[in-house]
Amino acid sequence: SDHQLEYPKSPSDMDWSRLYPYYKDESTGKMTNKVTIADIGCGFGGLLIDLSPKFPQDLILGMEIRVQVTNYVEDRIIALRNNNVTKQGYQNINVLRGNAMKFLPNFFEKGQLNKMFFCFPDPHFKQRKHKARIVTTTLLSEYAYVLKEGEGVVYTITDVEDLHLWMVKHLEAHPLFERLDEEWEKNDECVQIMRNATEEGKKVERKKGAKYIACFRRISNPEII
Ligand code: SAM
Repeated sequence: SDHQLEYPKSPSDMDWSRLYPYYKDESTGKMTNKVTIADIGCGFGGLLIDLSPKFPQDLILGMEIRVQVTNYVEDRIIALRNNNVTKQGYQNINVLRGNAMKFLPNFFEKGQLNKMFFCFPDPHFKQRKHKARIVTTTLLSEYAYVLKEGEGVVYTITDVEDLHLWMVKHLEAHPLFERLDEEWEKNDECVQIMRNATEEGKKVERKKGAKYIACFRRISNPEII
């Protein structure tokens, strides 16, 4: 249960310098960069770590609901920061314990995110559990709100074909998302990274399981005439 979790009242109440102290301007007390990449249900943090050196201007946030797993990722990032030769190494990644299906707009402003990753989300196989899935029509409207209009991208990858088809169906039916084609996927560096960066992705790789990928752009809001 997530009753005891605390959420900021609004994005401006969130003290990001606690998570990314390197990006706080000491003279103004303000953050120099914002969170622009979110890994939803980040698990053990493999994707955060592989994305970190590729996006030094982006702050990257993992959201994870399990306490033990979140603590593990925190420790992992502290160790990487301490062992890094450069001062900036791994300063742009961190993890927050939270339920990503609730209160996302409390953390992020409208249009703040460039990328949202959904890597190997829990499949919730049973029909009556489908509403617990992380991609639903209602939640997609929230994701569309926090993603940058015309540019933001939702990345999904799973080894469960039924879940893949479910996510594609819901994203395709949503008026604010448009699927990106295979050519785009082939040329996108994050697609390549997310195939094997996460712990779940590595497990599927060892079992030589299939991986289904679908990426969608957050299109511009339709003009109201
Ligand atoms: N993305 C990681 C990977 O590929 O290795 C983890 C995949 S794991 C199957 C799904 C993760 O999502 C779990 O760590 C779970 O605790 C987390 N999770 C499930 N529901 C969540 C929610 N509502 N908010 C945040 N995390 C959630």
